[in-house]
Amino acid sequence: MASKSSAKSAGPKKDDLILVAGAGGFIGGNLVKYFTDKGFTRIRAVDKKPLPHWYQRTPGVECICADLSEEANCKKAAQDAVEVYNLAADMGGMGFIERFRIECLRSILVNTHLIEAAYRAGVNRYFFSSSACAYNVTLQEDPNCRALKETDAYPAMAERGYGWEKLVSEMFCQEYWAERGMKTAIARFHNVYGPWGTWDGGREKAPAAMCRKVIEAKDSGKKEIIIWGDGTQTRSFMYIDDCLKGIDMIMHAANLIATPINLGTSELISINDLVSLTEKIGGIKLQRKYDLGAPRGVAGRNSDNTFIKKMLNWEPGIPLSQGMKATYKWIEQQYQARKAGGVTVKDHF
Ligand code: NAD
Repeated sequence: MASKSSAKSAGPKKDDLILVAGAGGFIGGNLVKYFTDKGFTRIRAVDKKPLPHWYQRTPGVECICADLSEEANCKKAAQDAVEVYNLAADMGGMGFIERFRIECLRSILVNTHLIEAAYRAGVNRYFFSSSACAYNVTLQEDPNCRALKETDAYPAMAERGYGWEKLVSEMFCQEYWAERGMKTAIARFHNVYGPWGTWDGGREKAPAAMCRKVIEAKDSGKKEIIIWGDGTQTRSFMYIDDCLKGIDMIMHAANLIATPINLGTSELISINDLVSLTEKIGGIKLQRKYDLGAPRGVAGRNSDNTFIKKMLNWEPGIPLSQGMKATYKWIEQQYQARKAGGVTVKDHF
């Protein structure tokens, strides 16, 4: 699978059909925009959410509402596609994946049907969005954890529900290459954040949640913030632009076929420090209250980027302070628009 004889493979032609599954969501929606901006003219965007609920819809893109856990819909979606990007999953922050493990596990149906449909359609390449939650949780019990490297997924003890779905789907991707010769790419994302994603409603992740909480506190004048856990948990957070570039590079790297690889930053930060950073952006200091009963996830998680640097001569590097500023600004706009009873992304079309 991974080989050192690197080199970038020829990517798709500008008029080849690219399928993005989960395009109504955060990363999928941004990926559609990324390819459009790169000049690709035939993009098919599919999501099970009704079109008005998509975070963004890029003009000129074929947008379809379909449930890809159903085989027939996957067949239709993959028809004529040259590349398939699977970003579709039922997921969210810790609040969601700890509570809805069955929902998370059921995303296995999407990958199972979509990869078979892609194979039958004769696509050139298939991308799967895996997660750092596939890693063995026993290696993440300390906030000062050592960064996770790709080999740390086995012996397997993934995050219950969500992490196991990712691990098994990764294996599908590996076997479609090993047994059937279809080129697959597998990136293990570490906490992606940025504009055009979930910022409230229960599926949001820590960076978006922090932005919203600070904005709410400023708006209400109630100068306090509730933090899940004791705030000592550590994570690394990758800005969306790095994620998109990484997806493109990993998908088209000749030396990474069917090889799981970390896609995240190695800039470790505690949740307490993330709060401080967000307060600084918002220009406010809040009183901290800790909800020790709330979902907090593993104690510490970071991305070891030795492998990606070696294989791609690149790693995500957009500083958290920079990405959080852009994210805060976008969420503040959404918040104000909603408050004014105006248009937010969800009812924009
Ligand atoms: P998201 O929830 O914003 O987007 C996922 C989209 O998939 C949603 O719009 C959802 O409606 C759609 N979907 C779910 N089930 C579907 C189905 N059966 N048929 C069609 N569409 C379906 O999440 P995201 O942050 O954009 O994540 C994209 C991918 O990246 C997911 O696979 C996720 O597990 C993975 N990932 C994300 C992060 C992160 O920090 N955002 C971290 C690790 C892995």
